[in-house]
Amino acid sequence: MNTVVCLKQVPDTGDVKIDPRTGTLIREGIKNIINPLDTYALEEGVRLRERYGGKVAVISMGPPQVEAALREAISLGADEAVLLSDRAFAGADTWATAFTLAAAVNKRAEYDLVICGQQTLDGDTGQVGPELAEILDISFVAYVSQVEEVTGRHLRVRRLVEDGYEIIEAPLPAVITVVKEINLPRLPSLRGITRSKSAAIPVLTAKDLGLDESLVGLAGSFTRVVKLFSPERTCSGEIFQGEAENQVDCLIGRLKDTGII
Ligand SMILES: Cc1cc2nc3c(=O)[nH]c(=O)nc-3n(C[C@H](O)[C@H](O)[C@H](O)COP(=O)(O)OP(=O)(O)OC[C@H]3O[C@@H](n4cnc5c(N)ncnc54)[C@H](O)[C@@H]3O)c2cc1C
Repeated sequence: MNTVVCLKQVPDTGDVKIDPRTGTLIREGIKNIINPLDTYALEEGVRLRERYGGKVAVISMGPPQVEAALREAISLGADEAVLLSDRAFAGADTWATAFTLAAAVNKRAEYDLVICGQQTLDGDTGQVGPELAEILDISFVAYVSQVEEVTGRHLRVRRLVEDGYEIIEAPLPAVITVVKEINLPRLPSLRGITRSKSAAIPVLTAKDLGLDESLVGLAGSFTRVVKLFSPERTCSGEIFQGEAENQVDCLIGRLKDTGII
């Protein structure tokens, strides 16, 4: 069972700042972390290797500093990691991101399953996983909360839906996106930490992936962020003042006045 985990490095949420002039994220001086849901994707890859054998490879597209996230992934159990980094990848929207990740997945001699997080903390679109499956032309299951079993060339998973869950069978290879209910990510092992320090992490460019630069990054993006703004606060309700007890009395009085209670 050879698994590819897609992992994105994101700014720690509390630190996100937007440049009011350009409308883009200010990345300088911000602490970066592995997108939290991607740690669940990685943990699931490692658990599948423990159950069925094979290897777990991690890929990430981003600037050179993403190497730190990939080393952390190795300390958490990944066998190998590849960084996709090139100035030509800058400004990628979700499609151009998925297109580049798909080229890296296709470059692998053999893979059975691609695991992504459900969504990221920063872009937060949840589009990359399904787009990746579409580009690779393989099956896709979203919101996976349990990988029940892999038999032959099939996978059976449980996916969360609004009012319960569904059991889905899909042929391999497949792409799944996972929710945090799927597992509890482990802490790095001492052996993993040691291995992560010396592991070679290849950096692949558009040329290495055989991609035309007009199809990646901003040039290959179908969407543009035209404007980014915080919606204006509107105050249509009423805020009761004073001690909590007084506020509750006012609220009850108002509900009685309007006939609600
Ligand atoms: C409003 C807005 C503003 C943006 N501004 C900027 C900006 O200023 N600068 C900038 O660089 N980017 C910016 N982007 C981000 C860019 O579009 C995304 O980084 C990228 O397309 C991934 O989309 P996402 O974060 O929504 O991923 P999602 O679709 O939410 O991610 C799902 C899963 O896909 C995988 N994945 C996603 N991205 C990667 C990756 N890069 N490598 C490996 N796996 C990945 C992970 O497993 C992740 O859990 C912006 C996006 C939006 C929506």
